[in-house]
Amino acid sequence: MQVIGQEKKEILWSVREILNWTTKRFSESGIETPLLDTQLLLSRVLNLSKIQLYIEIDKPLTEKERNLFRELVKKRLKGEPVSYLLNEKYWHDIKLYVDNRVLIPRPETETMLDFVLQKYKLKNEKPKVIFDLCTGSGCLAIALAKKYPEAKVVGIDLSKDAIDVCIKNAELNSVSNVTWINADVTNIDLFKMLSLEYKKADIIVSNPPYVTEEEWQKLDVGVKDFEPKIALVCDDNGLKIGKNILQNIIQFELLNKNSIFSMELAEKQPQKICNSVSKVIQINHPMWNLPLNEWFALCDYEGKDRFLVRIEQHS
Ligand code: GLN
Repeated sequence: MQVIGQEKKEILWSVREILNWTTKRFSESGIETPLLDTQLLLSRVLNLSKIQLYIEIDKPLTEKERNLFRELVKKRLKGEPVSYLLNEKYWHDIKLYVDNRVLIPRPETETMLDFVLQKYKLKNEKPKVIFDLCTGSGCLAIALAKKYPEAKVVGIDLSKDAIDVCIKNAELNSVSNVTWINADVTNIDLFKMLSLEYKKADIIVSNPPYVTEEEWQKLDVGVKDFEPKIALVCDDNGLKIGKNILQNIIQFELLNKNSIFSMELAEKQPQKICNSVSKVIQINHPMWNLPLNEWFALCDYEGKDRFLVRIEQHS
C-alpha cells in the first residue's frame, strides 16, 4: 500500500547547524579552540575559506560532505591535532606540509626565528652558510632559506622520515638552497664533515628534542599519542643532544666571526647545557644590549629562560 504524504523527510544539515553542533561537541570534550577547529575542518571539507563559511551559512551539506566531515570530527575527538588532519601548518611566514612523521612547528620556535632574523639584520651582512640542527619538518631551514636565497642552508635530522617531509616542504615553498642531511647530530663525524665542507656558519639554529621521559608521560594526548617521540624526548634529563651540539660546535669552531647561534630548550636547560663551558647570563628582554661572544640564556615572552644564544662579533 502506498501512503501519500508520509515520505521520510531527510534532515538537511546546514553549515550553521554543523558549526554550532560541532563547536559544542568539541568544547564539551575539552578541546581548547572548539570554534576554530570546527571552522578549519569544515572549510577543508567544503573547500571554502573561513569567511565563505559564513556567506554560505544556510547551505545544506551533501551526504558525501557530511560523511567526510564526520570522519574528521571523530579523529579530532580522539585527540589527533588539526594540523595533522589537514596536513598543513601555517608557521612564521611559510606554509608547511605536516604529518605524524614530524613535530608540528611551535610558536616559541617562531619567537626564536624572529630573534635571529632581527639580530642578524643589524649586522648588515648576508649570511652565506646556515645550519639547522634537528630540523624536523624543515621549518627553520626553509624560512631562513627563503629569507636568504643566496645562502647555503643545511638541514640535518636523524629521522629519514622527517627528511622526506623536509624535501616535500622545500618543494612546496620553492626553495632550492637547502641541502638535507639524514644524520645524527651527536655523531662527531657529521661535524668533521660540516667543518671540511663549509668551514664555518653564519647562523646556526637548533630545536633539538629536550623533553624528559617523565615530562613526556604527562603531555597532552595530542602530543603524546600523535607526535613523534623521537622529536621530543631525549636522554640525560633532556640535555644529551643539546650538550653534544654545543660541544661539537665549540670543538670544530663552527661559528664564524660575525655569527649567531640559537637553540630552543626548556626552562632552566640553557644553564645546565652550558655548565661545562661557561656561566650563562640570563637576559630577560631581547631588546636589551646583548652580550657579545658569550653564551647567554634568553627568556621568552613569559620570562622563561628558553633559548641558549651566542652572538659573535669580532673586528
Ligand atoms: N616545545 C615542544 C613541546 O611542546 C617540544 C619541542 C622539542 O622537544 N624540541 O612539546
